[in-house]
Order: sequence, then C-alpha cells, then structure tokens
Amino acid sequence: MKKVVIVGTGLGALTTALRLVRRGYKVEMVEKYHQAGGRLNQLKKDGFTFDLGPTFFSMTYEFDEFVEDTGLPEMPFTFRELDVLYAVNFRGEDKRYMIHRDLDRLAKEFEAVEPGFKEKMEKFLAGAGRFFHDTEHLVLKRNYDSLFEYLLTLMRVPLRHSPKLLRSVWNEMERHFESREVKEIFSLVAFFLGATPFNTPAIYTILSYTELVHDGYHNVEGGMYKIVEGLKRELDKAGAVFHFNTEITGYRFEDKQLTALIDQHGKEWEADLFVVNADAAWFRHKIFRRKKFSEQKMDKLKWTLAPFTMYLGLDTKLDDTPLHNYFLGNNFKEYSGKIFRNDIKLDQPYYYVNVVSKSDPESAPEGCESVFVLCPVPDLRYKPDWSDREEVAANILEDISERIGVDLKKHVISKTIMTPVEWRDAFNLYKGSGLGLGHDLDQIGGFRPKNYDEEFGNVFYVGASTVPGTGLPMAVISSKLVVERITKKYGSVYA
Ligand SMILES: Cc1cc2nc3c(=O)[nH]c(=O)nc-3n(C[C@H](O)[C@H](O)[C@H](O)COP(=O)(O)OP(=O)(O)OC[C@H]3O[C@@H](n4cnc5c(N)ncnc54)[C@H](O)[C@@H]3O)c2cc1C
Repeated sequence: MKKVVIVGTGLGALTTALRLVRRGYKVEMVEKYHQAGGRLNQLKKDGFTFDLGPTFFSMTYEFDEFVEDTGLPEMPFTFRELDVLYAVNFRGEDKRYMIHRDLDRLAKEFEAVEPGFKEKMEKFLAGAGRFFHDTEHLVLKRNYDSLFEYLLTLMRVPLRHSPKLLRSVWNEMERHFESREVKEIFSLVAFFLGATPFNTPAIYTILSYTELVHDGYHNVEGGMYKIVEGLKRELDKAGAVFHFNTEITGYRFEDKQLTALIDQHGKEWEADLFVVNADAAWFRHKIFRRKKFSEQKMDKLKWTLAPFTMYLGLDTKLDDTPLHNYFLGNNFKEYSGKIFRNDIKLDQPYYYVNVVSKSDPESAPEGCESVFVLCPVPDLRYKPDWSDREEVAANILEDISERIGVDLKKHVISKTIMTPVEWRDAFNLYKGSGLGLGHDLDQIGGFRPKNYDEEFGNVFYVGASTVPGTGLPMAVISSKLVVERITKKYGSVYA
C-alpha cells in the first residue's frame, strides 16, 4: 500500500485524500492551523459561529462527481440553493437590486434603468453559455503535460470565441448593456475571482452563466464548515490520520525523489509520495526555494486581492437586510482601477455582507445576528501596514449602519478582524492574497504552476494556485486532476 503525506487540509486536500483512500492509498495529513478546512474554515467566539471565508458557491455537480468517484453512500452535507443570489446597493441610493435567477423577476429589477433588459441578458448569457460548454471539458477539466499541449488544445476552441480572449469583462458588459447599474452589478463576478472587471478577460463572463443559468449559487445547511466536517468524518472512518499545528518548514530528498518533509519541530514525515495543498507557488518559493519562484518573481506575478474580513456578533436582528449583500460606491471605475495598488483611501470601501444567522439561526444566540463582512483590499506588496485596521473597520461599520438604517456600533457585542496579515499567517497565503494566483490568460491552464513538481517525481500539488484555479468547485476539480496524475503513475486498487 503506497503512503501519501498531504500538506494542508483545505478543500483540495480533503477531496484528494478521500479519492486516494478509495484507490487504496494510506493517507496522512499535516496541517499548520489548529483545525481542518484551510480557507473554508470556521470561527466560534462569544456564542457566535462564523464561516471564515467562503459563503456560497456554484457548480455543485462537481461535488456529485466527487461522491460518485469516492463511493460515498451520500453527500456528507446538504446544499441549499439560494433563492435570491444576492442584493446590491449603490452608495447614496435607496434602491436595492435583488439578483434573481429567474430572468423575468430579474428584468423587473432593472426595468427602470435598462429597457429591453431580458432580451439583452438572454443574448449575453447565450454567448457566455456557449463558451462555457465549448471549453469546460475540452480546456478546464484537463491535465496538461506541456505548454505546447495546452496551446494545441486552445486551438481546438471554436474560433468564434477568440474575441473573448482579447476583451475584458467590462468591455463585454459594454457591448451588451447601457446602464451603469447593470454593467457594474454583472461585472462583480470579476471580484469573485479576486480581480476587477477591467483586468479580467471576458472569458470569465462564464461565471454569470453559471450563477444565472447553469447551476445558481448554493450554501450549506448548518454553515459552510459542514463541508469540512462531513469530509473529515469520512476520512476518519476510512483511517486517514490528521496532525494539526504541524507546519512543514523543510525537506529531505534523494535522486530526484522527496524522501521526507520536515516540520517546525524537526520531525520528519516520510512517504512514498507527497501532495502539497499549501499554495502551489508559495511552497515552491518558501519551502523548495526554487529560482523560478524567487521573491522577486513571485512579486511580479499577478495575485488576487487580499481579504479584510470582520466577524460581528450583534445583539439585535437585521430584519430588513438580506442574506448576501454587496455594498458598492458610486466611483466604480476609479475604485476598481486604484484599489489593487492601494492608490485609493479605504474610507469609502466596497464590501460584501453576509448575515449568516439568516441562513443558519444556530450561528447566533436568540435575538442576535452573526454577520460576516468581506472587503477586498490590496495585498501586502502594496499595503504592508495594517495598523489602521480599527479605523478601516470603523469606516465599514459606519457605512453599513447608514445604509441599512441600524446603528451597528451600538449592537456589536463580538468583533474579530482579520487583515491580510492574519490571512497570510493563518494559511501561508502569499502576501495575504485571498484567492491565490490571479486568472489572467498568462496564469491559467498550461501557464499556471503545474500540479506535479518540476524536480521531484513523487510530489504533486492541489488547490487554488495550481490548475484549474480558485474557488470551491475548482478545488474539487483540482483534486480530480491531481489524482488522475497520481494513479497514472502509481496505479490504483479500489478499496
Ligand atoms: C475571504 C474569502 C472568501 C471566499 N469566498 C468564497 C466563496 O464564497 N465561494 C468560493 O467558491 N470560494 C471562496 N473563496 C475561495 C476558497 O476559499 C478557496 O479557493 C479554497 O478554499 C481554496 O482551497 P485549497 O484547497 O486551495 O486550500 P486552502 O484553503 O488554501 O488550504 C491550504 C491549507 O494548507 C495549509 N498549509 C499551508 N502551508 C502549510 C505548511 N507549510 N505546512 C502545513 N500546512 C500548510 C494551510 O494552513 C491551509 O489549511 C474565498 C476565499 C477567501 C479567503
């Protein structure tokens, strides 16, 4: 039986572990944090429970494929489809746009600002949908052994899609819609990728297709952390062993094979093969110290925006605030252009608010509310100093209070802030970048850090900064791709 050591316990690691256990591998997992989940983690404090990062996701069928592949009797957690995907408010306006999947209801929201919305949206989504279906299996869910193979594959994508490679998400919006509101709201998908619509290629309008047409958005009954608890339960049953508070800091090798990883206490973790779920670029940089991933080169890569997050326990209910909310300003272009490089003050930020307890009442005591706030901010390359954290938090709190008409300052009974510094330190995220490497054309597919190591034949990678990319469904696909590689090399015995 081959033994695998997996570094990290993010979603990519947990799904890889179960796929490998099912194929007859013995799995041990080492994790620097005190509990499993990586960015898909949980915070419990003062009687409140919060999901640390992800709050909803699309492409649930990737989890169905995973359950089938691993032979689990059923999904170890329960999805709930979101009825209203999210609500959007612009600063200074009373109107709250409710983003429904149903196009007729959605059209009603925009009838005052965008005449002919339904027809325009149908046309826009049809183009995004065609691109999605023409590339999902052909390009996205594939391993590439070389850049050449990747480029050859791209040549098989129908030519009619090529303008999408040259345009940005914003350009694509401008081709289909006139109103500022529609263009800004439906280009928010670029922020979901940790970037802005102005520097994100139009191919990612597929995210509008997945949210509005294909699969919608879902969360999980009892909170997103139920995903981790469910997967860990199955891994415990299958005999996988977890070691927390264990950080890999070094390694030993022989003849192009890694023989052991070494933790902060000097303990050696030996195995036949290793899967790294720590950020694929960071690990090559920090642990393997590869020249191609020197600090200088890492800093030149495009990284996604960093998170500034707040976890608030309130002693009141927010009856009039929906579950998922985006609060935008009225300087979208200027803000998007400047936020990445810390060229704009964070006194009027754009942010997302999730009233967790609306969906999971048990996450807050009776009469209270758990609230998660996420504000995308510059990573530590551009803003290394977060001593103004309380000030940034106060600005956001004041802004929310004004916009929802409840003075939150009077009701906060529990508050936790995570700046990019804490995100970096908790999970080894490079310069605090929240979603890992960006998804620019020169950083995806054959250009992304590979899911197999360049030097050690028995080292593989899974997760957000290797193929195919970031987000929960992508982590699940990433586990499928890496296990495909491993079993091609080491075989599989179905357990
Ligand atoms: C604030 C925020 C909100 C998000 N919201 C969403 C959302 O709503 N929907 C969505 O789909 N996605 C969302 N994402 C993205 C999503 O969380 C990630 O893409 C996904 O969870 C990444 O999983 P992963 O497998 O790459 O592993 P990670 O979660 O990065 O886990 C890697 C693990 O490796 C461990 N590790 C690192 N270095 C070492 C070491 N040297 N030794 C031992 N262990 C180590 C880390 O501690 C970590 O536990 C969000 C991310 C953030 C930060």
